Amino acid sequence: MRQAIVTMAVSGCAAIGGCATQTSPTYTASDVKVATATDKAAGTSLVTKTSRFEIHADPWLSLHHLAFHYARNDSGLRVRGYTPLTHDDLDAFTPDVVAAFEPVAKAYEPYYEMSLLRSAPLRYSSVAIVMGGVDSLEDPALKQALIDVMPVYKTHFWDRHEAAAQRLIDSFSADLHHHGDDMARRLTDYLESDWSSEPMRVDIVPYASWAGAYTGTRPVNHLTIGALQDMALDSSFETLFHEASHASPMSDQLDAAEKAAFAASGLDMNRYWHALLWYASGRAAMETLGEPYQPIYVTSGRLTDPKWGPVYQSLDAVWDEHDTLQARAIAAAKRVVALQAGTPEENRSD
Ligand SMILES: [Zn+2]
Repeated sequence: MRQAIVTMAVSGCAAIGGCATQTSPTYTASDVKVATATDKAAGTSLVTKTSRFEIHADPWLSLHHLAFHYARNDSGLRVRGYTPLTHDDLDAFTPDVVAAFEPVAKAYEPYYEMSLLRSAPLRYSSVAIVMGGVDSLEDPALKQALIDVMPVYKTHFWDRHEAAAQRLIDSFSADLHHHGDDMARRLTDYLESDWSSEPMRVDIVPYASWAGAYTGTRPVNHLTIGALQDMALDSSFETLFHEASHASPMSDQLDAAEKAAFAASGLDMNRYWHALLWYASGRAAMETLGEPYQPIYVTSGRLTDPKWGPVYQSLDAVWDEHDTLQARAIAAAKRVVALQAGTPEENRSD
């Protein structure tokens, strides 16, 4: 197993739903993690570095995500972003293991209604673990509970989670070797942007969010991907680049493209920019990987969704007729408005 050397800071910003307003933690991009005795007790991370990504699988961050989802799922509350566990993990929660997890489940109670991405206290718990290990957690009850339950996690869950992370890392490594340059070229071309100058930090955990992956961007870019979640795995290469494109500078032109499209068409759809990103990353993946790959905007049902289907169908219809992100965004928005008004396509003015 390779030694973990963490050299990046991360912070919270909503990839899936716009940036959260959060106070930056005390970490900086120059912080370097020093392995502590507690880290060593848990074992080191898997780490793989490529030219564009630095991919980690850390036991503490994996435990943090498992325990959070387990605790809130088991709370009986109707929580937003419900994230189911696998049958293997549910089976591992025997009565003894449930009893061992009780203190950590209680420690997560104040976080039940929070988002791992958008809620600062929970987001910065992940940031603290990534930056300085579990000893850096500010919540003393949570820190102690995680430390106490780590031996149980290592015995009953980690081997399975580590193996899943390794499979995903191997898959990423092979795909990046064969297709990484082509995908990055296409996607930055579609987004009219540059790739990040630094390799982006990726953490593989058993369960990320309900969506299978999320991305924070301040003060540096940080992707979290769930190795046991079909949503992330079925299209993992596209997921990796889609998530990366939430970060600056790749995402820098999306806001302006959305604004121009709304101004030109009168369309007003929350998160139209995200449809642009889904389409661009999906199309780039489809063109890069070739047949029979189907992009996420197809396999997820977005293309036929009553609300979003017209957007994706319109992007598909106009994409090749234009050369810039803004022109494509405007043309698709005008087509959506025409469809909404029931205007025959041949009478459109775009
Ligand atoms: Zn996204």
